[in-house]
Amino acid sequence: MESALTARDRVGVQDFVLLENYNSEVAFIDNLRRRFRENLIYTYIGSVLVSVNPYKDLEIYSKAQMERYRGVSFYEISPHIYALSDNTYRAMRTERKDQCILISGESGAGKTEASKKILLYYTVTCPTGDHMAALGERLLQSNPVLEAFGNAKTLRNDNSSRFGKYMDVQFDFKGVPVGGHILNYLLEKSRVVHQNHGERNFHIFYQLLEGGDDDLLKSLELERNPQNYNYLVKGNCPRISSINDKNSWKTVMNALLVIGFVEEENLMNIIGGILHLGNTQFGEGEEGETYVTNEDQILTLEKLFGVNSSALTEAVTHKKLTAKGEEVKIPLNFEQTLSARDALAKSVYRRTFNWLVEKINQSLAQKVMQKFKDTEKISLSLGFEQFCINYCNEKLQQLFIELTLQYEQEEYETEGIAWETVQYFDNKIICELIEEKHKGIISIMNEECLRPGETCDASFLEKMEDSIGGHPHFVTHKLANGKTRRVMSREEFRLLHYAGEVSYNVNGFLDKNNDLLSRSLKEVMCQSDNQILSHCFRRKEVNDQKRSETASTQFKNSLMKLMEILMSKEPSYVRCIKPNDSKQPGKFDEVLVRHQVKYLGLMENLRVRRAGFAYRRRFEAFLQRYKPLCPETWPNWNGCLSDGVSTLVEHLGYTPEEYKLGRSKIFIRFPKTLFTTEDALEAK
Ligand code: ADP
Repeated sequence: MESALTARDRVGVQDFVLLENYNSEVAFIDNLRRRFRENLIYTYIGSVLVSVNPYKDLEIYSKAQMERYRGVSFYEISPHIYALSDNTYRAMRTERKDQCILISGESGAGKTEASKKILLYYTVTCPTGDHMAALGERLLQSNPVLEAFGNAKTLRNDNSSRFGKYMDVQFDFKGVPVGGHILNYLLEKSRVVHQNHGERNFHIFYQLLEGGDDDLLKSLELERNPQNYNYLVKGNCPRISSINDKNSWKTVMNALLVIGFVEEENLMNIIGGILHLGNTQFGEGEEGETYVTNEDQILTLEKLFGVNSSALTEAVTHKKLTAKGEEVKIPLNFEQTLSARDALAKSVYRRTFNWLVEKINQSLAQKVMQKFKDTEKISLSLGFEQFCINYCNEKLQQLFIELTLQYEQEEYETEGIAWETVQYFDNKIICELIEEKHKGIISIMNEECLRPGETCDASFLEKMEDSIGGHPHFVTHKLANGKTRRVMSREEFRLLHYAGEVSYNVNGFLDKNNDLLSRSLKEVMCQSDNQILSHCFRRKEVNDQKRSETASTQFKNSLMKLMEILMSKEPSYVRCIKPNDSKQPGKFDEVLVRHQVKYLGLMENLRVRRAGFAYRRRFEAFLQRYKPLCPETWPNWNGCLSDGVSTLVEHLGYTPEEYKLGRSKIFIRFPKTLFTTEDALEAK
């Protein structure tokens, strides 16, 4: 029997639903490992694609491979990101329904690579219209630009995306890609001013210093050595062997050109300006007031940011308050000045990044159709950003459950099969714990931020203990009594996420949530001559008396919007797994993998998928594949399809509880049944 699957492809099971012991995590991981050893990095859970980062180039992404996957069904060929890309594309064309592909996994697990491969698949295999070549190129070129400004070296990944992104690829009625759109959220802007040991700032800073030509550096008054800049020395890691900043600079400049960018000068003034801002030094006067000790830095900033230097100095060292209708200026102390300076650097960078994404979007603009989403999961995380990221994952899991179950239900209905209740853990309770109005963690945090007078992270923790202390998914040191197995510090709170426990250190939560840039600094910035900055800082914002939204509220709102978009699509999922922490090919660290299997909720995925019928197939496809197994259906069945399938499965000895026939599909309850049938086919 001819099959696109070779014996090697059949190592383990290529779909976890075919695992006999589908409740066993051991069996699950064993299957992953056996396949990984054979370089079979992809395995399905139904329509979910699980991918294990090989950390080496595999010969499976060529154009010839793309051709193999075109128009072929999931089960007839080895699992692949191209199969998922192709199926999604076909579903969009035949069912005329918007699709989305959600890619998740922790840092370094292969999300970015996966999204690039999907894009490449579409750019190579989709029909091309008049503008396609240019659009495909622009889509691909948007990556190096986003990576330069949004990625950085972390301990886990030399090229880690420090922002969440969601990318649309839009197709016209002929299936030609005609446009794209990128939504970005939660850029880790604190990295601009601080990096942990062994980590770097965003790539673009180093690329500029390494790759910018002498004239450019001279005009920006920069020196080549990154060690000279306060904002680049915190991680003590200016250069790394796996990154060639000089080459990347060329790639980025070229990409900007392809995208049709004309504001490089303004852009580099901002990047250079941020480095100078970081080098601004302050002294402390006798009365506790601060002053700038290296005036020349401020003058350089005047040139690069296009703002008035004395106004800038004053705004960094003072705050304005309105008391009884009158404006008074209050000097900031040394610490406050430093945080005002850093707040400005972070705000300028974040806004510039958003502006850049907007520019890319203008260059990709068209109507809407297909979606990608890329989120990052950090399981051992402790800070505010990670809290937001895990909240995002919690929402995505909820969406997964809702959509999967909804999809199952709809399919059962269309096929005329009675709905059967599915047992699963609904993580809605955790989403509510975080986001519920007035009662959720975000609300409590916002209230603490808005409360006049001194508030601190410790009081935020106490507030949480008071209001949500009884919640089964919330634990602190004080409440720990038996709810958690591990020892907790007094600064921690722990959430029992759907996929496991995560501890958060409450330090810095309020500060980061506040996201404040003083009004004085906004005033200075909105008068900038730099075209990008004047676009990023609008006068309206200064005049608006309303307090700006907290970071968590902004994030929550953008998540709500995202969920709304995703709810209207048919989702496919790619779950990426990192096999080891040392970026080594061939190494499968079982403890690490088990951890991710848990955090990605893969066992839960499998249970939901297996709860009803594990497997379903359209009559014609089922007959086509298995007809050699029954003399009455071989070589051709001439009657109606449903009768053909009936005849075939009766011949194969399927019992009534093993399967049901819908209107156009056969539903098979146990994978074992299909397993045996596949074996029979192979033996033939
Ligand atoms: P993430 O976006 O999840 O943080 P990346 O996609 O950047 O992770 O992957 C990290 C690194 O792992 C990549 O730079 C690449 O070297 C390697 N990698 C990831 N996926 C693959 C793959 N499919 N084939 C080969 N190498 C890969």
